[in-house]
Amino acid sequence: MYLKKIIANGFKSFADKTVIDLSKGITGVVGPNGSGKSNVVDAVRWVLGEQSVKSLRGDGNMTDVIFSGSKSRNPMNMASVTLIFDNSDKYLNLDYTEVSIRRRVYKDGTNEYSINDEKCRLKDITDLFLDSGIAKESFNIISQGKVEEIISSKPENRRVVFEEAASVLKYRRRKEEALRKLERTHDNLDRVNDIRKELESQVEPLRIQREKALIYKEKTDSLKNIEIALMATDIQNINFKYQTSKQKIEELNQEILSLSTSSSTGEAKIETLKKEIASLDEEISDITRKLMEQTKQVEQASSKKAILLERQKYEVSDTKIHENIVSLKEEQMKLKVDISTLKEDIKSLHESLENIIKEEEKEEEEKKKVNRTKQELNQTLNNIMRENYQIKNKIASLRESIENNSLLPMGVKAILNNPKLTGIHNIIGHILEIEEEYVTAITTSLGLSSNFVIVENESSASNAIEYLKNNKLGRVTFFPLNIIKGKYIDEKTLSTLRNLEGFVGVASSLVKFDKKYTQIVENQLGNVLVVDTLEHANKISKLLEHKFKIVTLDGELLHIGGSLTGGSTYKVKNVISEKYELEESIKQLEYSNLKISDIENNMNECDYTLKSIEDKIYLVSKRKIEKSEILVQKDNQIKEKEARLNQLEIDINGNASILNKSFTQEEEKAMREYYDALEQKNLTEKKLESLKLTRNEKNSLLEEKEFESKKENSLVSSKNKELKALEIDVNRMDVKLDTLLNHLNETYSMTYEYAKDNYQLEMEETSARELVSKLKNDIKDLGTINLLAIEEYEKVNERYSFLKEQEEDLLKAEDTLLEIIKEMDAVMEKEFKSTFEVIRENFKITFKELFHGGQADLKLTDPTNLLETGIEIVASPPGKTLKSISFLSGGEKTFTAISLLFAILKSRPVPYCILDEVEAALDEVNVDSFGEYLKTLKEKTQFILITHKKKTMEYADYLYGITMQESGVSKLVSVKLGEIKE
Ligand code: ATP
Repeated sequence: MYLKKIIANGFKSFADKTVIDLSKGITGVVGPNGSGKSNVVDAVRWVLGEQSVKSLRGDGNMTDVIFSGSKSRNPMNMASVTLIFDNSDKYLNLDYTEVSIRRRVYKDGTNEYSINDEKCRLKDITDLFLDSGIAKESFNIISQGKVEEIISSKPENRRVVFEEAASVLKYRRRKEEALRKLERTHDNLDRVNDIRKELESQVEPLRIQREKALIYKEKTDSLKNIEIALMATDIQNINFKYQTSKQKIEELNQEILSLSTSSSTGEAKIETLKKEIASLDEEISDITRKLMEQTKQVEQASSKKAILLERQKYEVSDTKIHENIVSLKEEQMKLKVDISTLKEDIKSLHESLENIIKEEEKEEEEKKKVNRTKQELNQTLNNIMRENYQIKNKIASLRESIENNSLLPMGVKAILNNPKLTGIHNIIGHILEIEEEYVTAITTSLGLSSNFVIVENESSASNAIEYLKNNKLGRVTFFPLNIIKGKYIDEKTLSTLRNLEGFVGVASSLVKFDKKYTQIVENQLGNVLVVDTLEHANKISKLLEHKFKIVTLDGELLHIGGSLTGGSTYKVKNVISEKYELEESIKQLEYSNLKISDIENNMNECDYTLKSIEDKIYLVSKRKIEKSEILVQKDNQIKEKEARLNQLEIDINGNASILNKSFTQEEEKAMREYYDALEQKNLTEKKLESLKLTRNEKNSLLEEKEFESKKENSLVSSKNKELKALEIDVNRMDVKLDTLLNHLNETYSMTYEYAKDNYQLEMEETSARELVSKLKNDIKDLGTINLLAIEEYEKVNERYSFLKEQEEDLLKAEDTLLEIIKEMDAVMEKEFKSTFEVIRENFKITFKELFHGGQADLKLTDPTNLLETGIEIVASPPGKTLKSISFLSGGEKTFTAISLLFAILKSRPVPYCILDEVEAALDEVNVDSFGEYLKTLKEKTQFILITHKKKTMEYADYLYGITMQESGVSKLVSVKLGEIKE
């Protein structure tokens, strides 16, 4: 590669377009002072990216390089320089044999770069030349004064030349870039760290709040599930008791009413009885008074009779006869009185007997009635007992059947009962909870698949099948949870269905099940429609073009395609219906037990009533017998007395003549008066007796009625007490129900029906209650809860984690960058060291060659720090001792610098080299040495020498002159070598 052309236009003193054609070898550029020679060097460095105006010998800004005008020429608006390189050897890493690099600058300060006429960035140019040895900072362009600078500059500044020679600038650049990145990374890290720390202070409290909120949520969720289920159960139980109690209240009211009615009838009866007794008492006292009167009259008649009879004793002839006659007469009259009294007795006995019989009949009638009731009750009891027994048997057999899975096929049963098989869940029929009204539809729809076994995965199924095969237990269908996918009805069809008459729902939505079985249930019921009647089912099926399986609430089945299964409804016994049958039977048993105890109570009451009726009947019949016996006695007495009376009358009539003589009419009258009075008195006595008896009877009846009434009253009051207690209970239950329903509504916005349908109590009630109160306490203990913390924490933590990641990434990047820097350092150290050593050796030689003797060396100021060490030049021209170069003469310094330049060029040949009056300070001998040395190098390196020295010009293969004919504008002129040499 070599520099073929320099084209300057408007650059510094090159106002006109100036093309400098160059060739390999040595080209000299000559011209008077100020003609613009150095501007050529500036032009080259400018194109290669020089940004420092100072190093281009300007002092303002980059636009200074634009031709600023002269007396005869106006300033220009743009400066442009193009360098054209021959790149046939592909020295530059571009696939072109010729590479042109152009830079332009406009008055407004805009720079424009291009490579081969294609616009590019400055960086593209610097990258292209980096470490090529011909970059702007390379040692291949040595401006005026630069030589001295190499010699006199600080050892540390000198190393740049060596670095360039060692081609480590690219590493240094990369290192610098890495360092810049490192700094940026540090800044980022600091920023990230600040934010992370800020977030860290938020994350921890938020995490604690979030954890608390999550515990709170978990606890409230559990509380919700259990409390709702518990409330639903409580409501159900309380409501059952409430209804039963209300019914009992109604019954009690009825009983109390009928008891009160009977009690008021009793009261009326008591009143009547009391009145009757009072009037009887009045009558008795009248009669008693009358009896006293009559007794007095009897006594008077008796004494009158006695006086008369006594007087007659002395008047009759035969006292003995008289006495006999008197005695006969008296006996006759007394007998008549007795008979009349007895008759009166018999009359009242008959009346009394009649009453007793009536009473007996009444009691018998009552007894029959109670017996009939008891018989009926007994009949009912027997029926219920039979029923009860049957229900108990049914429950026992259902329980046994459910426990033993007896309705399941042998294989399924064997699988479910084998504890060695793993991953076996249950049969489909057992995982579903179905409301009674849907049981028929769902079981019909499921058909045999209710016995399909749900398993965890295929391998659980395979193991089970292996077991079935080995034990010849038949075939079973398995549903692996990880494989079976749900079937669904599309939303469009669903929205059509929702508006159709009779559509109840999609079967899967009418059952309850554990969420983990969703896919299984949806697979079996997700595309089955439940419709109320067959008529509606037919319509819907037709409308949906028989694409879906439809089942009616009665169990008719419309298959996909339109075929239909149905007929008389009969209850198919299966695992699902069995469960409901058991629940139903338990309810029936409870009801039946209640009825039995009710009937038994009533029967006991009947027995008690019967016993008291029989007691009464016994007493009544005893009284009847007594009365009858007395009646017979009285009858016999009358008969005896009548017989005696007849005998007496015969006797008296037989003695009539005697009688007429010795018994006076006066006597007869006195005696009759006495016995009449006695009869009257006896009858009154009997009347009194009978009245007293009646009174006693009435009194007993009254007492009885009063006792009954008392009993009834106490029964009413006990029933009232019971009623009151029940009413209090009902009120309490009413309040409790209200509280529970309100709590459900206010706390969970839920109706009882919804709670009952969707929340099941899955533990003992007492444990549930304990758990609810524990959960409530736990929730209270949690204190204030910030529910927003859950979301906030997610957000903050996400950002925090992101920043943490970023921090880690940045730290990694930092490590990578440090690694890169380390690598770069290592490469640079290695390259620098080896290049330094080569240059050093070459320097020792070139110095000796140029100075024709003497010696020189290069030393590192800090060999332990190869990256920063400065380079010391020690030189000792022939005959002088090795000294620091500061002691050398100007010419010696220059020549030493040139030796170093040549040493570098030998170590690292570059394609071209521009030397701006580097040899100005040399004497002719040394210029010769310089020229000669150039010749040895010109094969490998193109030299462009700007010089004033004729001696130097002699070594040039081509020569250009720069003049400034037109004042202020440089012109290029060719100079013939001969002219110079002369
Ligand atoms: P010497 O032999 O003394 O080193 P030289 O030939 O190297 O001189 P240069 O230093 O290249 O001369 O040129 C300097 C000349 O260029 C000066 O006359 C200066 O006025 C002119 N010059 C520098 N910049 C501009 C510019 N922007 N516009 C016009 N002329 C400029």
